Amino acid sequence: MSIPLVDLKAQYETIKADVDTAIQSILSSSNFILGQEVAMFEEEFAGFCGAKHCVGVNSGTDAIYLALRTLGIRAGDEVITVSHTFIGSTEPIGLLGARPVFIDIDPDHYTIDYAKVEEAITRHTRAILVVHLYGSPADMGSLMQIARKHSLMVVEDCAQAHGATLNGKHVGTIGDIGCFSFFPGKNLGAYGDAGAIVTNSSELEQKIRMLRNHGRLGKYQHDVEGINSRMDALQAAVLRVKLRHLPTWSDSRRRIAAKYTEQLNETTGIVLPCTPPGAQHAFHLYVVRVSHRDKLMDKLKSAGISSGVHYPIPLHLQPAYNHLGYSKGSFPITEMTCEEILSLPIYPELSDGQIAEIVDVLMQHLDS
Ligand SMILES: *Cc1c(COP(=O)(O)O)cnc(C)c1O
Repeated sequence: MSIPLVDLKAQYETIKADVDTAIQSILSSSNFILGQEVAMFEEEFAGFCGAKHCVGVNSGTDAIYLALRTLGIRAGDEVITVSHTFIGSTEPIGLLGARPVFIDIDPDHYTIDYAKVEEAITRHTRAILVVHLYGSPADMGSLMQIARKHSLMVVEDCAQAHGATLNGKHVGTIGDIGCFSFFPGKNLGAYGDAGAIVTNSSELEQKIRMLRNHGRLGKYQHDVEGINSRMDALQAAVLRVKLRHLPTWSDSRRRIAAKYTEQLNETTGIVLPCTPPGAQHAFHLYVVRVSHRDKLMDKLKSAGISSGVHYPIPLHLQPAYNHLGYSKGSFPITEMTCEEILSLPIYPELSDGQIAEIVDVLMQHLDS
């Protein structure tokens, strides 16, 4: 018996009848782009987040691009963010001709260290891109204070944080714009690429609606050059079925995380994830830290258990960002984290028996 890192097939089996019907109804209507289905998803997802508006787009990366562009980020601007994330967070900054300015992370939660933001601010800084990595909400209270003091805009990358809250507020609704990915493996995943932005500003919402659809106002009136980043109706139909299950699935993820933590609490040689004060963690990933990570991954693999590393090479050491001039040692906490992190299997269908099996293998190799 092998245990995957995520199991999308197991999830499909639980919702097959509803998903198949929803897809069939789109095929019958033959309205494939935007339209009623996407509009209904946008309304439901805005409701889920407690945001005034939601705009469905093509991917999480596009959501961030559209958010930054709508906020006026352009060539020569600087956006403060972290190196410890997926490149989809930062590609949009470069696409706009702006420059990502990396800072180090908080060693306990692996998200942006707000205490390092102010020293990174220059006269070119326009925004902070906050990543709620692994589903753990960053310290938005402190970040918003700094942002307001320096008139910076705040974009939240919630690609891994569907269902995460901070003091009762859904992530993505605290800064100026929240960006979500519905890549299949995310906590809310489509059956292809999709994404969304949420905001409480109708002005920003209108701009994003226009930009995602060729800068259109009417059918053939284009006020600006936009892009094609429309959500398709098949994805919206799948997402609408899954959204109904998301609260239960999020609870399951938190229950699984609690089980791991409870069973590994006494084990030495492993650092377990912790939830920040006032936060509800979305546990997109359950990430531990161990000193001989690659060896432990091999042991798990031999026992039929998949694990992952999110992410092994920090962005400041990626060839794609050579031109930014960072080097090894630039962000010690990020670099140490990348060497030690290990993502254990977590998905709502993971059984107690499977968790016990994973914990068993870990204990065998950690305590020895
Ligand atoms: C998945 C992801 C993205 C990009 O989303 P896509 O839908 O794949 O474009 C951006 N940021 C983070 C943190 C992600 O995990």
